[in-house]
This record gives sequence, structure tokens and C-alpha cells, in this order.
Amino acid sequence: MKSSLSNPYNNRQWRKLRLSHLQSNPLCYYCLPNKITEATQVDHCIPWTDENDLMYEEDNLLSTCARCHQWITGKQRGMDFKGMSFDEAKVYKKTFIWQEVGEDGYY
Ligand SMILES: [Zn+2]
Repeated sequence: MKSSLSNPYNNRQWRKLRLSHLQSNPLCYYCLPNKITEATQVDHCIPWTDENDLMYEEDNLLSTCARCHQWITGKQRGMDFKGMSFDEAKVYKKTFIWQEVGEDGYY
């Protein structure tokens, strides 16, 4: 069932899932192990679309800090995730961040 709200994140199912994910994964995945940063947001390893239905897939979720999330969200549009598992996508994005900004580059 599709929500009629314009913001797809503004619904109870997402808020609940997001909160429980942050509670079990309180640290930013992209910052580790260089930095211990509290995660405040949840990224999708593989960007969800209406077709792939990955928004609520728990294995597709990743705790991040606001900074990493904003950074990777801006960059991942040109990335091709076809055929990747969730774990591969995670590592791919983390490697990309580290290569682009360096280990300490953006704090
Ligand atoms: Zn981070």
C-alpha cells in the first residue's frame, strides 16, 4: 500500500524500523573504525526505489551520522548497485567515502 503523504519517511512503519535499527546499531558505520561517531540517521545500503521495494528491508539499513549520510547521498546517484548484495553495497560505499575524503578528511 502506498502512502499518500509526499514524504515517504513520514510514516509510523519507517519511524519504528529506523528507531529500532539505531538502537541496535548506535554507531556510524562509515566512520568506523577510524572514528566513533554516534549514528543519528539511517542510510539504505542500496538506494530504494518504488520498483525495488528496499525501503523497509532491514538488511538494507545502515546507521550513519548526519555528515556521512549527507555526503554519500549526494554522491551515490551515479553509482551502479546492480547485482550487489547489501553487504557489498555497504563496503562499496564505505570504500568510496574513504577514498574520496580520506580517513580524517572531512571532520
Ligand atoms: Zn559518519
